[in-house]
Amino acid sequence: MFWKRSSPSRVRVLMYHKFSEGRSDYLTVTTSQFRRHLGVLAEAGYHFITLQDWLYHIYQGLALPPRPVLLTFDDAYVSNLTLAYPLLKEFGARATLFVPTAYVGSSSGWDEQAEELLSVEQLGRLNPEVFELALHTHRHLNYRNTSPDDMATDLRACVDFFVEHRLTFVKALAYPYGGRPADPGHYEQMLRVFRENNIQAAFRIGNRINASTPRNIYDINRIDIRGTDSLFTFRRKVAFGRLF
Ligand SMILES: [Zn+2]
Repeated sequence: MFWKRSSPSRVRVLMYHKFSEGRSDYLTVTTSQFRRHLGVLAEAGYHFITLQDWLYHIYQGLALPPRPVLLTFDDAYVSNLTLAYPLLKEFGARATLFVPTAYVGSSSGWDEQAEELLSVEQLGRLNPEVFELALHTHRHLNYRNTSPDDMATDLRACVDFFVEHRLTFVKALAYPYGGRPADPGHYEQMLRVFRENNIQAAFRIGNRINASTPRNIYDINRIDIRGTDSLFTFRRKVAFGRLF
């Protein structure tokens, strides 16, 4: 959906991981928390956009709605489908799933409390009006410590996975752990790998609100939403990006 007038709205990107019916922790929000989050956003006049909407805006100048917000879920947990999906649908919201492709159908082995991840079949059956798929590296790598050659191999493995399984995806990446190379030379090499592989955007954490056309498309900020946050904290994070 596109609006006629171009809007200078800044873009908020919220980062979620797991959902639970009753237990919250910093990576897990409960369904009742998530319902309240969606309610707060809808009441405040935010419009849920897709990552593809935003890329059309950035690369082709198509307008965004006022107060755009992009919901992103890292790691593609089964709970994204079983618990978050009904609420997304109820609120007319959508979310981008960042999928570590080597772990599809398995569990989050890098995690202290490993949880079940969506299978290829489940990914293939997701409602495309609600979910879009994007990259989260193949092996959930921290790119801060990954050589450019290994990044290139890893990115190609992600793309091959989506193509092989005929899954529609957006060529944008969320850095696992928010990790990018600290060394400027290494960072430049990563950008070269991204350009060679036609990666269109990359997301860190950062807890800031983005310009509608970010200065560095490979350094987009997301706001870290935690199950340990109160609703007051959630509102502050949405309003300001970070807490003061
Ligand atoms: Zn992750």
